[in-house]
Amino acid sequence: MKFEGKKVLVTGGSRGIGRAIVEAFAREGAEVAFVYHSNEQAAQDVVSSLQDQGFDKVSAHQCDVSCQQQVDELVEKLVEQWEGIDILVNNAGIVKDGLLATMDGDSWSKVISTNLDSVFYFCRAVTRPMMSQRYGRVINMSSVAAEFPNQGQANYAASKGGIQGLTRCMATELGRRGVTVNAVAPGFIETDMTEAVRNAAEKEIKKQIPCRRLGKPEDIAQAVLFLASDESGYITGQILAVDGGLTLGGI
Ligand code: NAP
Repeated sequence: MKFEGKKVLVTGGSRGIGRAIVEAFAREGAEVAFVYHSNEQAAQDVVSSLQDQGFDKVSAHQCDVSCQQQVDELVEKLVEQWEGIDILVNNAGIVKDGLLATMDGDSWSKVISTNLDSVFYFCRAVTRPMMSQRYGRVINMSSVAAEFPNQGQANYAASKGGIQGLTRCMATELGRRGVTVNAVAPGFIETDMTEAVRNAAEKEIKKQIPCRRLGKPEDIAQAVLFLASDESGYITGQILAVDGGLTLGGI
């Protein structure tokens, strides 16, 4: 198994893309801790379904990723328990769409704090342990919306663009310590987050995608596993679009 013995932390692992990432790492032998926010039932489902399949090194942790103190406490606890940390996947995210002209401050700051501040908190918290062990893999979840935002996504596009800048800068700082930092930019993926858009316009969306299908959470999980693997050790500071070709001609 490719990730046997590796200690992996995944945010937003209870549903959608994050769940697929947790499952993929667990099946490859990793010890996985994942974060959820409020949906405890979904988090327990992930743990118990993996246990039923014989993968029992997975644990769920309630934590609001936008809360610096909660993030620091969780990472400190895991690093102590694991005596280090090998892989961090910053995946948790939300949308709160609305046209800029009428967007309220709360919709702006909630999305920025959940999607972007959180990535800063987690990245900062793992930096010292990863530097001192001279090994680490950080994968941040951006979005095609960073470069090709839809109307009504100023907050979301700003948060995902910010993640890309943070990713590149962190990569320049940590490369010499054996730590790589990359981002994945998914297109349209079948999760709760895109349910309303899919219900309204799935046919139209598929026509814009060269691969002629929506992405599955597993498509993203496999890209994350590649960027977390030893084989990708010479790739850092990159943003990998996983979108079925959606952005080749712009959207
Ligand atoms: P999702 O199905 O809505 O799941 C979101 C996950 O994030 C859940 O596990 C949720 O926990 C967690 N979360 C949300 N707010 C949190 C908070 N404050 N603290 C801790 N955990 C929190 O989303 P998804 O579609 O899988 O998206 C995952 C990531 O991919 C996001 O960053 C998203 O922006 C990005 N992305 C998605 C798409 C797409 O098409 N789906 C496209 C591009 C990028 P609970 O279960 O407790 O709520």
